[in-house]
This record gives sequence, C-alpha cells and structure tokens, in this order.
Amino acid sequence: MSTSRFRSLERLHQRDQVYAKPPSDKISDYFSASVFDDRAMKKYLSEEAYLSVKASMRSGQKIDRRVADQVASSMKAWAMAKGATHFTHWFQPLTGSTAEKHDSFFMPKEGGEGIENFSGNALVQQEPDASSFPSGGLRQTFEARGYTAWDPSSPAFIMQINAGKTLCIPTIFVSYTGESLDFKAPLLKTLHQVEEAALDVINRYFDRKVSRVTPTLGWEQEYFLIDEALFNARPDLILSGRTVFGHKPAKGQQLEDHYFGSIPERAYQFMLDMETEALKLGIPIRTRHNEVAPSQFEAAPLFEEVNLAVDHNQLLMDLMDRVARRHKLRVLLHEKPYAGINGSGKHNNWSLGTDTGVNLLSPGNTPKTNLRFLTFFVNTIRAVQEHSDLLRAAIASAGNDHRLGANEAPPAIISVFIGSTLTGVLDEIEQRAGKEQLDLMSKDDLKLDIHNKIPDLLLDNTDRNRTSPFAFTGNKFEVRAAGSAANCASTMIVLNAIVAQQLRRFVQDVEALKGEGADRDIAILQVLSRYIKESRPVLFEGDNYSEAWEKEAEKRGLSNVKTTPQALDFYQADKARKLFSELEIFTERELDARHEIWLDDYTRKVQIEARVMGEMGVNLILPAAVAYQNELLKNVRGLQELGLPEEHYKAQLDLIGKISIHINGLKTGIDAMVDARRAANKVEEARDRAVLYCDDVKSRFDAIREHADKLERYIDDARWPLPKYRELLFMR
Ligand code: ADP
Ligand code: MG
Repeated sequence: MSTSRFRSLERLHQRDQVYAKPPSDKISDYFSASVFDDRAMKKYLSEEAYLSVKASMRSGQKIDRRVADQVASSMKAWAMAKGATHFTHWFQPLTGSTAEKHDSFFMPKEGGEGIENFSGNALVQQEPDASSFPSGGLRQTFEARGYTAWDPSSPAFIMQINAGKTLCIPTIFVSYTGESLDFKAPLLKTLHQVEEAALDVINRYFDRKVSRVTPTLGWEQEYFLIDEALFNARPDLILSGRTVFGHKPAKGQQLEDHYFGSIPERAYQFMLDMETEALKLGIPIRTRHNEVAPSQFEAAPLFEEVNLAVDHNQLLMDLMDRVARRHKLRVLLHEKPYAGINGSGKHNNWSLGTDTGVNLLSPGNTPKTNLRFLTFFVNTIRAVQEHSDLLRAAIASAGNDHRLGANEAPPAIISVFIGSTLTGVLDEIEQRAGKEQLDLMSKDDLKLDIHNKIPDLLLDNTDRNRTSPFAFTGNKFEVRAAGSAANCASTMIVLNAIVAQQLRRFVQDVEALKGEGADRDIAILQVLSRYIKESRPVLFEGDNYSEAWEKEAEKRGLSNVKTTPQALDFYQADKARKLFSELEIFTERELDARHEIWLDDYTRKVQIEARVMGEMGVNLILPAAVAYQNELLKNVRGLQELGLPEEHYKAQLDLIGKISIHINGLKTGIDAMVDARRAANKVEEARDRAVLYCDDVKSRFDAIREHADKLERYIDDARWPLPKYRELLFMR
C-alpha cells in the first residue's frame, strides 16, 4: 500500500539541497542590474530623450512619438546588451496577478536575413488579444480588445528565466473604449490626486518651496513554504491554495518557537536566491524573518514611491513562486493555507514625502513643523473615519475572510490606533482649540512641541497595538488587515483617494474660517479640533480582538461586515460613488464593472474550493475510510469465528461505528453542498450568486471538514492518502 502521501514523504528525504549563488558578495555590485534605471537611461538615451522621459515620470507629461522612437531604440540596445531577445508589456489585470505576452525583437526579412526591431509604437501601446481577462461586462465581444499603454513612471526591467530574457515594460491596461481594466490606471490617478491636494495644503500653509509630494509604500509580505512533493500530494493546495481538510496536529504554533527563530537551511537558501533575483530587479528587499506559524516567513523591502512599490510587490510574488520551484518548494501566498494556524497578511505602510526630504507624517522639532505633521495626521484619521467602510471593501477577498476577525488578524471592524502620546496631543487640541474664542486663542497655548515627546512616541511605537487594523507607527500609517495575496494597489487606491478628498475639504474649511477673519494657524487648529471630535468613533486604543470591542464598535456606529460579498457593497454606496466620481478615479460604469468582477472572483474561488472538497472527500478520503473499515470488519468476523466474547472486539466495533457515522456525514454533506452549488450556479445576478455561495455553499464547509478530519483521526495512518498537517508544517 503506497499512497501518494508516502511516495511524497520518501521523495522529501531523497532530495538534494539546492544552494543559492548570488553573483557577488556585494549587493551593490548587482542591485538594479536588470533595470532600465536612471543610470542606464543616462548612458543609453540622448539628452533630449532623457529629459523628456524624466519630465513624463514627474508630471505624466506625454512623450512625443519621435522621442518615443528614440527611447525604444535605446531601450532595445540596452536590453540586447543584457541578452534579452523578447519584449512584453507587463500589466496588472484584475485577476490579481500580472500578465505578459512576449514578442520577439527579431523580424525576419526577405532573403533569409533578419533584424532586431523595437519601435516607439511598440513601446508606447500594444493591443494584446486579452479578451479573456475579467472586464465586468465592459468589453462586449465586438470590442473585446483592450490595450496596454506604457507607464514611464515605473522603469522597464529584464525578467530572466534561466536562459530566457525578456524586456518587460510596465503598462496600464484599458478597454478599447478607455475604461480601466487593471489596478495601475486608477492607482496612478489617485497618486496624482493626493499629490495635488497635499501640495496645495503645504504650499498654502507651510512651505512654498515644496514642489512635489510623493506617497510612499513599504509592504511586508508574509508567506508559507512547503515541500513540492508534499504540495503535489494535496489537490486542495494545488487548486485552491489552501488545505480544505486536515486534522489539527499535536503541535501547532502554541510554543511560538518558530517566530523570529533561526531560519531553517532550506528556507534560507530559497530566501537568498529569491532576494538575489529581487535585488537585480531593483527591489530594495531588506528584511527576512520567521513568522508566528511553523514554516511561515516574511520579506520586506525599504519603502518606495507607491507605484513602484506596488509593481515591486507584484513582481516579488511572481519571483517567489518561480524561485521556490527551483528549490523544490512551493510558496503559499493564500491568506489562510492551514486551519487553526495563523494566516498571512501584507502590512501596507503608507506615508507622504516631499521633494525637500520631509516625511509629512513625521513629528517635527518645532511647533510649526508639528502643526504641519498634525495637519496630515489628523486629516488622514478624519478620512478613515469617513470612509472606513471603503477600506474594509478594499481588503475584502475570499482568502482574507478566513483571517479577519479570527483573532490572529485585526477584525472586520476598521479602527485607528495612534498610541497614548498622540492621543494626549489630540485631546488637548480638541479641548482647547475647540472651546476658546477664535480671537482669544493663541497656538502657543497648545503644546505643539511634540518633538519633546519623541521618546514616548517611540515607546508607543515599539509597544504598539498589534490588534489594530490601521495603526500609526511613528512616522507612517500601517494598514495591517490587507491579505497576503492581494495587490497592494487595492488598498492604496482607496487610501490615496480618501486622503485627497479630505485634504481638499480641509483647505475649504480653513479658508472659510480665514474668511471670517481668523489667523491662519488658529484657523488650522480650529478645523483640526473639529476633525478630531468628528473622528472619535474610529479612534480605538484597546484590544481589537475582544468581544467588548465588537459591542462598543456597534454602539459607535462602525460596521462589522465579515464576508466579502457584503463588504463589496461599500463600493456601491453613494459615499463611494461620490468620492470616485468627484476625483475622476472611476466612472459609474467602471465602478459597477469592478464590483461585478470582485463578486465573480469571490464566487469562483469558493466554487473551486467546493469542487475540490467534493472530489477529495469522495475520491480520496471515502475509499481510504471504507477500506480500513473493511479490514476492521474482517478482523471482527475472524474473532467471532474463534468464538471470542464481544469484549475482545469492542474497540473495533466502536471504530467501525464511528467510521460509518463520519463516512455518511461526509458523503451527505458533500451531496447537499453539490446541490447548493448547482442552485447557486443558476442565479444570474453576480451579487445574489456570490451571496448564495457565501451563505449556502461555503457555510457547509466546516461540517464537511469536521467529518473528514475525524476520519483522519480514526483511520490507519498507513492508509491515509493526504499529507498530514504535521508533515506539511514541520517537514524541512
Ligand atoms: P513591523 O510591522 O514588522 O514591526 P516596521 O513597523 O518596522 O515593521 O515596518 C517597517 C516597514 O515600514 C518597512 O516595510 C518600511 O519600508 C516601512 N516604512 C518605513 N518608513 C516608511 C515611510 N515613510 N513610508 C512608507 N513605508 C515606510
Ligand atoms: Mg508591520
């Protein structure tokens, strides 16, 4: 009896360790070597072309065709010098992963010769026949083509897969009629909006010399590693990215002996290899460590400009998968690969930086710079207060539903943690600036010398509240509820947009008070004071995991939506529509399309899980259970033939009974789920279908799993067909 489980366990012990070979001992020797970065551009571009690309990177200014031709030909020269033979537009359709379609530079000519060619047209725009990407009905079949357009603000790079090298050009992806079908186009719009709004605030009230504001993102990517042979013996991992069955192991994460422990050799070699590839692509990866769960790890780079950071995270997720295969490993990016074990998230650290080198969310060392800090700090909080629902929608996914509120990740309630020092500062501003008469108040009365409190701030920061979904951590806000598999752009689009809208309102409110004759700084403080008061419901310093908070949050009017189909409704709310149309991020049609795409994505993911559960239950678990039960039956009959009294085979009878109960439970559960799925499939409307999948299909998973996991407990280990949790989690 050789189940695939045992074959995979044998393979695990026979494998050779793969070692990483960084090209040099010094990272600076190869950092960004595969990127058409500033250095490469200076070397390969004419001055005119260089300045034109730079201007376009800065202001989105269009590059004219003649210059585009020049850039294309230099890019080609650079890429070919590096060994690239093909090029592709690289984009981020709403599937969540990245897409590419390679074309060769080579063009055959008459007479058997050929030439390597890459024109400005090919650089600037392409029409991939990408009609199978989700479009939420935006593209009818007659206009099925979407097109991709160059994003000069993210540099081209060479993706190498062994001998194959391809020049990748980051692009946006839009429908023929101009509607966006990706993450990047709306992200770029929100970046522009928040920059413009923040610049206006700075230039009006704080510093005329600032000419650029750059939103920054530093992500932290959590993931699991698993041996390839074991992975391949688990249909659920292969098809859905998570285990739909599996009994709790005797040892899980309770000892917390993995967290920040020494990194196992095999994982370490993978990390080194993955980091080398990442560094070549200019991803400033810096941090690696073990996470809480066994075989769980984290990678984090230095923060970068948001658009670049988003591209880099997408690239890294892709790289991780490829490099892992070289090491006979698989990376699990799913938010909850294992029940009962911590899942994976992706913290999104966000801030705003200026071209004068100031982090606008960093407390300064004078009352004036602190007023600036408080302005951006309070406005961000006020924006979250107003649009916490939209942030909840931005992190919604089938995978993340397993994590949010499971006492390992923040709950589905969005609140903001700022620490006791800043709470004190806000209290004071609210009380003093709120109470006093405009003309009687002086800002010197307020303690805006936050710099004296920096040690306290740091204390708050290191001792910070890990249960909070949106935490201020010293000089940045950290969205801590995002899922590990998500495109960071999803959160960033919402965060940028709501802060942009809020900063615009702030200017209006301050100008109105000034119009009534108020001193500028006093007007700012008065407005901030009002915002603080209005933001009280969303500010929470306590334990987000507690039941008391759920009750308290309800009283405060904060929503607590636990499932994706419901959370996605927030994209359809009037408030969201107004926000996105006011800032010209999404048209109504685009918003509707996106909503439908997310719903269908949810439905499909649950559908796949349901199918794989059915197949594994009926084709793998049930036969193993029946076979073992037959063995027990044979044994009992033999003992009966010997004429032994029942007390001699009571244990076997008991087991036979239990196995029967769970075989029947499993099979009836699966049958009922299949019926529910069929019924749900008949529903036309995307939202109704997703809700049915949630409430009537997915809701059955736990009971089915319970029976399967019980069978795992009762059946002969040698007959169990699926690698067990202890093997998946602790095999090195
Ligand atoms: P952890 O959450 O694991 O304790 P930290 O709080 O130290 O880690 O967060 C480090 C992350 O914060 C890094 O990914 C870093 O790039 C990011 N970060 C630091 N400063 C900024 C900033 N100004 N803007 C955006 N991200 C930042
Ligand atoms: Mg963090």
